[in-house]
Amino acid sequence: MNEQTTNEPSKSFERLPDNFDGLDSSRRLSVAGQLIISSAKNEDADRIGLLKTPERYSKTMRFLLSGYESTPAQIIGEGIFPTESHGVVSVNDIEFYSLCEHHMLPFWGKVSVAYYPTDKIIGLSKIPRLVNLFARRLQVQEHLTQQVTDTLYALLKPRAVAVRISGQHLCMMMRGVEKQSSSTISETSLGLEKLTNLEQQRLFSALEGR
Ligand SMILES: [Zn+2]
Repeated sequence: MNEQTTNEPSKSFERLPDNFDGLDSSRRLSVAGQLIISSAKNEDADRIGLLKTPERYSKTMRFLLSGYESTPAQIIGEGIFPTESHGVVSVNDIEFYSLCEHHMLPFWGKVSVAYYPTDKIIGLSKIPRLVNLFARRLQVQEHLTQQVTDTLYALLKPRAVAVRISGQHLCMMMRGVEKQSSSTISETSLGLEKLTNLEQQRLFSALEGR
């Protein structure tokens, strides 16, 4: 261990430390926090309010990116059960918080999932955990929607599954176009061809909580 791994904030930090490649993720994120502060030209990086900010930033970012640390199989574990019921199942309005991969600003919203089981169902609490697994990564909303859909389709082998996400994006709200009340809807589905028209209607009604 060397001096870069201590918790002492370095003053007027303006470039990567020489040993950056050897630092763990926690320390790298702390360095990133220091670099952001040092990029604010007239800011006093040593004022009291900012002294612990790089460590707080590191801790927060590690939490927001913790979805890289597990796989769907680990999250779901034993949470898949046999069923003889074939009716549509839905879980609606699951809150999520994510970071957009283009600007690393938050986007958040609600996820709804609906599926027609073949012979397996998933424990209902596992769906929000699966959403968090993918949301706590650098993301775009369209990929998040697709990843939840693909994972449920692969794990449950349902007849069909549909996922709908409604999200608000700080990168749209705070910068550029400043569209503050717009929301983005994304929807994906798999297996629709196996459903009758009536079943398709039921699947999408369930997705909308109707
Ligand atoms: Zn963005």
